[in-house]
Amino acid sequence: MSEVENRPSNFIRNIIDADLDSGKHNEIHTRFPPEPNGFLHIGHAKSICLNFGIAQDYQGTCNLRFDDTNPEKEDIDYVEAIQKDVQWLGFEWNKEIRYSSDYFDRLYGYAVELIEKGLAYVDFLSFDEMREYRGTLNKPGKNSPYRDTSVEENLAHFDKMKNGEYEEGTCALRAKIDMSSSFMCMRDPVIYRVKFAHHHQTGDKWCIYPMYDFTHCISDAIEDITHSLCTLEFQDNRRLYDWVIENISIESTPRQYEFSRLNLEYTVMSKRKLNSLVEENLVNGWDDPRMPTIAAFRRRGYTPASLREFAKRIGVTKMDNTVEMGVLEACIREDLNDNAPRAMAVLDPIKLVIENYDDNKVEILSVKNHPSDESQGAREVPFSKELFIEAEDFREEANKKYKRLVTGKAVRLRGAYVVTATGCDKDADGNVTTVYCTYNKNTLGKNPEDGTKPKGVIHWVSAAQSITAEVRLYDRLFNVPNPSAESDFHTVMNPESLVVIDNARVEPALANAEAEKAYQFERQGYFCLDNKDATADKLVFNRTVGLRDTWAKING
Ligand code: ATP
Ligand code: MG
Repeated sequence: MSEVENRPSNFIRNIIDADLDSGKHNEIHTRFPPEPNGFLHIGHAKSICLNFGIAQDYQGTCNLRFDDTNPEKEDIDYVEAIQKDVQWLGFEWNKEIRYSSDYFDRLYGYAVELIEKGLAYVDFLSFDEMREYRGTLNKPGKNSPYRDTSVEENLAHFDKMKNGEYEEGTCALRAKIDMSSSFMCMRDPVIYRVKFAHHHQTGDKWCIYPMYDFTHCISDAIEDITHSLCTLEFQDNRRLYDWVIENISIESTPRQYEFSRLNLEYTVMSKRKLNSLVEENLVNGWDDPRMPTIAAFRRRGYTPASLREFAKRIGVTKMDNTVEMGVLEACIREDLNDNAPRAMAVLDPIKLVIENYDDNKVEILSVKNHPSDESQGAREVPFSKELFIEAEDFREEANKKYKRLVTGKAVRLRGAYVVTATGCDKDADGNVTTVYCTYNKNTLGKNPEDGTKPKGVIHWVSAAQSITAEVRLYDRLFNVPNPSAESDFHTVMNPESLVVIDNARVEPALANAEAEKAYQFERQGYFCLDNKDATADKLVFNRTVGLRDTWAKING
């Protein structure tokens, strides 16, 4: 089924349908508003798919807007990474990229308007005093002594703030709302503060910056956003947004609707925590394949379609929930099962010597790239007297359940011949180093004439023609389903989240592997060439996902 036929339904789409039916709106405008203070994670992918997906399905528009009011925490590198991720997911934003900082002049004007209306004042209470005056959920706040300063004086103070005449932390512009409101965000929230910080877009033009809550709703209105979709923690703030929009001279009145955040088991999703993993070198950067970032999933071989499918399966509701890793993995596994070409790689190699095969002969076998999709064609795989097979695919003795190579028994080599093991060499510790066998030369693409069809099939590579590769096996980053619930998430990190194999052997066709494009390594799982560390001299493959769901077992 195509993505269009299989359109999701959710409470937000129901609201939009009703708004279109009633004629409240003729066009739908959404936006995705990340703050450029980190890489996007899979939770953002949910929001991207929702906002851009709605714009696509309703022939509306979706803006990409950087909510950049915190210059000290933001960086142009994040701005670039975010654009790349949105595009990679398959979405196109409406016209040029927007920045909240594009609106700093207008925001300043609206702040002046509030002052002129007696609805904002410059407060000189210290940070601690302000907090004390704010009260608590059970105790109303009390008015600042600066709350009744005249409009003229406030205009003069705000002008001085803008001109850099007040030090950071000495004063702030506050909306004059209600210090006894049961919504804390309505107790005269700060809307502008002094910050002598260089901004990645506006440079040193400003030394005052608007607060997020003031900026966000006005930016939505400036852009004529019809449905402003955000996560549930902003539910209370909606009152403040509506208050701001009602009290300034602006036409548009975006309506905000909240949905629940995505939480995923065995990982953390807050940018603050992800940032600390990066800063403390507990992972190798934001795109370390163990991270829940979009860049990490890409590097690991996830496809855009698999993440979009995931967003569709988890849906959009107001209920808090945590999604099992298995749901995400099922999406990529299904995609790659259909689409990933097959290849052979031996992760833990031992030699297999075919005693009755010519010493110097190399046969070029044609092996199908996909078992059922003929359109994927075939590739050439060299076959010779000395091969590598997985150490775990040979035993001297075994019961019937073991359908691999056993001394005296036959097995099929994938895409090649049937071989029968004759014996093996071992090292001083008793580990098998070389297995000997004979092959039946009449079994290429057909069963033995004597009717003894071998039960097992194992993968292999030719010893001389295969290439050494590094293979990185990734596992969950944390040992517990909800690491955020721990007082210190460091204590529950999985020490085996990355296992590096440095002497795997892969078939020669993989020398041409494209970064980020996953292959199924027969019987092992899905793997893709690393997009950073692989070089012309060194192949590095990342495990995207195993062939089967091992999470169910771990949890159950
Ligand atoms: P974090 O808490 O990770 O720092 P944030 O909300 O501060 O996230 P923003 O860059 O402000 O990050 O988020 C941009 C958009 O993505 C917002 O509309 C936000 O609601 C949404 N978003 C962020 N995290 C999630 C999540 N886990 N699930 C769904 N949507 C999310
Ligand atoms: Mg935010």
